[in-house]
Amino acid sequence: MLTASTDIQYLKGVGEKRAELLKKKGIDTVGALLRFYPRAYLDWRGVLPIAECPFDTEVTVKARIVSPVKTNYIRKGMTLYKFTAEDETGTVIVTLFNQKFLAQSLREGSEYLFRGKCGGNLLVREMSAPEIKEGSYNGIEPVYPAWEGISSKTLEKLIATALESGIEMPDVLPESIRERNSLCSFKTALKNIHFPSDPELLERSKRRLVFEELFVLQTGLAFLKKRRRGLAGCTVKRNLLPEFEKTLDFELTGAQKRVIGECLDDMSSGRPMNRLVQGDVGSGKTAVAAALCFIAAGNGFQSALMAPTEILAEQHFATVSKIAESCGIKCALLTGSQTKKQKSIIKESLKNGETDLVVGTHALLTEDVEFQRLGLVITDEQHRFGVEQRGILASKGNNPHTLVMSATPIPRTLGLIIYGDLDISVIDEYPRGRQVIDTYLVDSGYHRRIYAYIRKFLDEGRQGYIVCPLVEENETLDITSASEYYETLKDGEFAGYRIGLLHGKMPAKEKDKVMRAFAAGEIQLLIATTVIEVGIDVPNAVIMVIENAERFGLSQLHQLRGRIGRGKYKSVCILVSDARSGDTKKRLEVIKNCRDGFKIADEDLKLRGPGDFLGSRQHGLPDMKIADIFADRKVLHMAGVEAQRILTDDPSLSAPENAGLRGEISALYRKLNQN
Ligand code: ADP
Ligand code: MG
Repeated sequence: MLTASTDIQYLKGVGEKRAELLKKKGIDTVGALLRFYPRAYLDWRGVLPIAECPFDTEVTVKARIVSPVKTNYIRKGMTLYKFTAEDETGTVIVTLFNQKFLAQSLREGSEYLFRGKCGGNLLVREMSAPEIKEGSYNGIEPVYPAWEGISSKTLEKLIATALESGIEMPDVLPESIRERNSLCSFKTALKNIHFPSDPELLERSKRRLVFEELFVLQTGLAFLKKRRRGLAGCTVKRNLLPEFEKTLDFELTGAQKRVIGECLDDMSSGRPMNRLVQGDVGSGKTAVAAALCFIAAGNGFQSALMAPTEILAEQHFATVSKIAESCGIKCALLTGSQTKKQKSIIKESLKNGETDLVVGTHALLTEDVEFQRLGLVITDEQHRFGVEQRGILASKGNNPHTLVMSATPIPRTLGLIIYGDLDISVIDEYPRGRQVIDTYLVDSGYHRRIYAYIRKFLDEGRQGYIVCPLVEENETLDITSASEYYETLKDGEFAGYRIGLLHGKMPAKEKDKVMRAFAAGEIQLLIATTVIEVGIDVPNAVIMVIENAERFGLSQLHQLRGRIGRGKYKSVCILVSDARSGDTKKRLEVIKNCRDGFKIADEDLKLRGPGDFLGSRQHGLPDMKIADIFADRKVLHMAGVEAQRILTDDPSLSAPENAGLRGEISALYRKLNQN
């Protein structure tokens, strides 16, 4: 008897080799196979007589092939196959491109279904590359995302086999929730998402599965939040803030003060703070973090500040230790590359409470890092960590306050949902005197002038970046790859200058070394892909050239541009693009004219759609199988209400009817941890 957890290898039709192919895509159980949903559907119903087909809309006709299939070699790599088909009402000429296998399988005299758009004229219709199916299928056919060795048809057959075996899968949604939200049963949804008998049922099934996915996500997040609740281990007095401000060589902005105030409200409330600080690049999040650490120390509590990379951790350490020293706060750095001995000394001082503030990387998460009285946990660039990771750090204290910081400008309403377990503060103001970055848009005809312009900056002692798009394998477009470009420039336009290369395929150590050399001014010009660290602060870098700018998302361009204009020098960003399409131009104009990360994010959303914008890397949530956090906002809300409700009724989710839900949530946590 099959169950959801049966190894995929034991499904009829799956051998050892196929099992391996399926497991490559994470389909290792029958349950996972059934939750692998079609990406599209072909509706073969509603066959029209050829003579009645409207032009330029998707139609299905049923026609008999009445001519041989003629082959035309157009040129190398391009073969056309042409034939004529008829029904009682008319004639259609069908053309196929390069589909040799399909063309050879067609038989003159047999009847087929053709689905596609009709062109031609009223007498003779034409169809280019239609979907073709033999016989008289009269349903909706699922189309699965195929990969090497596994076709859509194979998946369809396997899924049909699994469904027909009468497999029992528990319904994650209790009946009461289904009733309140008019959702169909899991069984119905599962059958119809794969093999819908009509579009309406398909819609219902989809809605049900979307609801389920968003419900599990939100229940999971709320569950995490609840687990952290309780009484705060430390309550602070806020009157230390003026003293902190005295240690700074600048004045806090109004927004920084407000956000610090919001955090201190939390930290003096008796409950643990659980807050997200969103602030555009350069808005000064580090100072907010430093203020809170300072105040925690003044109240006798330890703090931990975690950053995603060593270089960022070091940078933060440099900033906060300068402040800390001047007021007797003991501060330490903990990263993976330190020697065992160094690490053990620091760990000891955290355990016995000697060190007030530790700045570090993932190294802080290891089991043997213990604190005497950890009261505050801050995670920088939160989207680089999984949800559960900040939980691990927090668990090293007794209900410590937690703060996460992010420069990823997610529109506020959405942030509330994505970070459902967090309160949100926004730093919506830049420090005064911040350079306005001049942004220009030019075509590649300007390269000579651009190089000369860069050299002028370098000669004045400044530094700069040239950013190239990531080059993916089997890329056919003519774009500049970072390493080739580096080689060309090194011995050409920038011979005699100290130039460096940074890209994602380099080992982490190597990347770190290059970034460090750049920060220290040893490298004058850095040729890089987008791996330039978010958050890296090199005030001497004042010029950035972005090649093939049309290949980047707007938010990405904005984040990149945020690497310059961080000091007292005039900064310039040059976008190079030969793209001619109006849409692309419009996008690039947005970035040229606007420097508000939130506005840019909104534009990005409008122009590109949510799929691109919200890759899982952007927010630390797992990829959704079927739900779309934007498009399904309404369902998201309904599912959120139910998530709250179920946790009120059964806080530990231990009731038998919630067993399925609990299983799904554990699976989700496992995924969150892999992020
Ligand atoms: P981000 O929010 O991107 O992390 P940082 O915290 O790195 O920004 O701050 C960017 C730069 O601005 C740093 O060099 C920092 O010293 C400086 N800075 C922060 N706050 C202020 C302020 N209120 N006035 C002037 N400079 C500031
Ligand atoms: Mg930062």
